[in-house]
Amino acid sequence: MGICHAYAPDGRCISLLKILLTNSCIFDCHYCINRKSSNVRRARFTAKEVVDLTLSFYRRNYIEGLFLSSGIIGSSDYTMEQLVEVARSLREDHGFRGYIHLKTIPDADPALIEQAGRHADRLSINIELPTEAGLARLAPEKSAPRIEHAMSALRSSIESGQDARRRYRSAPDFAPAGQSTQMIVGADASTDRDIVGRASTLYDRYRLRRVYYSAFSPIPDASAVLPLQRPPLMREHRLYQSDWMMRFYGYEPREVAAAADPVTGMLPLDMDPKLAWALRFRDRFPVDVNRAPREALLRVPGLGVKAVDRILASRQWRRLRLADIARLSRSIAKLRPFLIAEDWRPVKLADQEEVALRSKPRAEQMELFGA
Ligand code: SF4
Repeated sequence: MGICHAYAPDGRCISLLKILLTNSCIFDCHYCINRKSSNVRRARFTAKEVVDLTLSFYRRNYIEGLFLSSGIIGSSDYTMEQLVEVARSLREDHGFRGYIHLKTIPDADPALIEQAGRHADRLSINIELPTEAGLARLAPEKSAPRIEHAMSALRSSIESGQDARRRYRSAPDFAPAGQSTQMIVGADASTDRDIVGRASTLYDRYRLRRVYYSAFSPIPDASAVLPLQRPPLMREHRLYQSDWMMRFYGYEPREVAAAADPVTGMLPLDMDPKLAWALRFRDRFPVDVNRAPREALLRVPGLGVKAVDRILASRQWRRLRLADIARLSRSIAKLRPFLIAEDWRPVKLADQEEVALRSKPRAEQMELFGA
């Protein structure tokens, strides 16, 4: 318990000790089990206890780093000081070289955020909910403009740090793994289209490395303003896939939104959004694997970035056949309707084939999206 798995861009799995400094909080966010009015037992680590725990797990190879967050105790500055103290002590007193991700508090003194960035690899500020109205309703002590102001300041500090490192090798790092945020899904009435739009704006404005989506989970003694049920976990998964489409496959946010239902604004749960987009814009297919540009190949459901790069490299030397593409994918039956190869040209995708594509079990659907 308490050890989570994060994934590096190269696919490596990193184990992190993910804990709260304390579950006490002076705020009263409706969706949070640790809110002030919640009837839970409270506990708190000292900074030294977190340092000792991290080091003992690290030395035993249980973890490669620490992901530390906290409820707000006393004041934003006091809480941030405690978080910074953990990171400082790990780095300066113990020469800790593992990964550190610190949650930062938007209202904290910028000097404390500056110190956090000197010791942590990544900093994050949670945007919490996709809309300002949702935040005002469910987390009245938080403010979307204040959160965005803090993200903007972080972006400046990260970019200044990168610039300084380019000029002087001895310049100190500032959050070299960038900043990220988290959005709760299903606690308010925001649609997937709203969430995709919000995530895209945050990526553009603040150069975030990641937006994490977290399905709302009902809590004991919940406030009456919250939904009674959790959203389907598949919804969270589809949002991660839509995020992937924008970051790695070159889709514009409005294109991802076009994969959503025009009336409800929700992404389909029974197929990945890349396939949904392909079925909605059938006139863009089939794509000729021997001629099409990279951008068009990346839109073929089931072709991932690595497969596309290998197609581009191989076709310099010979014309590719369907069997060549089959070697790059485990789902050639699903790919076939969307591509042309030297020895293959599909007939128009029939409605019953579309139904078959939709109704595949979950494991195959995920594979369709392309790793
Ligand atoms: S500030 Fe954080 S810990 Fe406190 S109630 Fe809100 S979400 Fe929960």
